[in-house]
Amino acid sequence: MDRQKEFVLRTLEERDIRFVRLWFTDVLGYLKSVAIAPAELEGAFDEGIGFDGSAIEGFSRVSEADTVARPDPSTFQVLPWTTSNGRHHSARMFCDIVMPDGTPSWADSRQVLRRQMNKAAEKGFNCYVHPEIEFFLLKDSPTDGSEPQPADRGGYFDQTVHNAAPNFRRHAIDALESMGISVEFSHHEGAPGQQEIDLRFADALSMADNVMTFRYLIKEVAINEGVSATFMPKPFSDHAGSAMHTHMSLFEGEENAFHDPDDPMQLSTVGKQFVAGILHHASELSAVTNQWVNSYKRLIHGGEAPTAATWGRANRSALVRLPLYTPNKGSSRRIEVRSPDSACNPYLTFAVLLAAGLKGIAEGYELPEEAEDDVWSLTAGERRAMGYRELPGSLADALNEMERSELVAEALGEHVFDYFLRNKWAEWTEYRSHVTPFELRNYLPL
Ligand code: GLU
Ligand code: MG
Ligand code: MG
Repeated sequence: MDRQKEFVLRTLEERDIRFVRLWFTDVLGYLKSVAIAPAELEGAFDEGIGFDGSAIEGFSRVSEADTVARPDPSTFQVLPWTTSNGRHHSARMFCDIVMPDGTPSWADSRQVLRRQMNKAAEKGFNCYVHPEIEFFLLKDSPTDGSEPQPADRGGYFDQTVHNAAPNFRRHAIDALESMGISVEFSHHEGAPGQQEIDLRFADALSMADNVMTFRYLIKEVAINEGVSATFMPKPFSDHAGSAMHTHMSLFEGEENAFHDPDDPMQLSTVGKQFVAGILHHASELSAVTNQWVNSYKRLIHGGEAPTAATWGRANRSALVRLPLYTPNKGSSRRIEVRSPDSACNPYLTFAVLLAAGLKGIAEGYELPEEAEDDVWSLTAGERRAMGYRELPGSLADALNEMERSELVAEALGEHVFDYFLRNKWAEWTEYRSHVTPFELRNYLPL
């Protein structure tokens, strides 16, 4: 048995851990879990755990329901929760999903991202990512359609506002770090109740696992503090939504392929082509990076969210930004993609962003002019005249763009691509048939 598996089995025994949770992610980005007893783990490493794939969003069709989850021992971590006598009782591992014959499942988001990373590796690149994850803490989470109450009344960088969740961020960061997820920054974001936690970079696959773990831990810590956490893209009409700004770079061995000390922006040609790829394909990627009806309520003028396929430096209305970095530290040259929201599937999101960037490199796309203007302050006509391409304004627009995209079809694979479009068109149709409070307020006779 290999050393990682041995390490897992030994740790379980030494720390007397009673449950091992096997985690995977469905196509929509929901975390799935099956707990097994440690005694079953050796078998699970060898043969995997069979489950009914047809019951999971985006997995098998009923006729091919048998699906197997195979734990990845490199992702083993002990969960921070303890029993009343201080003992840790559970650990988790992410799984790869395989078919009964052992071939990787086409429905597995983790596999979609791994395929894309292998494509990058064929060109000599390893992709690193760090996300800035925004979310809301709420006093309650009403399910009757009424507006929730934010847990505090703070604003950007406020320190003094944690009346409802006094220890939330400290406990959240302790929990994350105990599971090997390093936090770089955390602060109160602009809207009441809104928080942001920025993770230290990792390779894209580990980071997608980290994002899934993050959402789970944050929700649990919030409950322990008597509040509720939501990653919904836009819970409040009157406040900005929750972004998952995604910082990306490509490394060739030890060298950051995005760094060029002789360029005025210290951005290499490879870096420029990567950005150009994301801008060029931005509309096609939108349904993946912003997958919910609600996502498009965030991507409007104001609120610092992007609405057009532009790039800039200080410009926070741009889709891609070149963040400030430590000039002598070439390794930190990176780009920031500002469209993804906190409710995306991180595996699929990183996969399509990487696919678009690699396409830009392969085709040698030119980086367009930097957007200096605050695009929000221009009229639609002015924006068109300046050549700005608007991003899709609704899930339906985004799905129409995605449907025509060879790039996204190839990156997701036929199974996930078809399932995603079917599922999302159904969501749109359901939403569209719904008469909203807005309409009743505006169209009933006075
Ligand atoms: N919350 C903003 C958004 O939805 C981003 C704010 C920021 O620049 O960090 O995109
Ligand atoms: Mg932010
Ligand atoms: Mg940012």
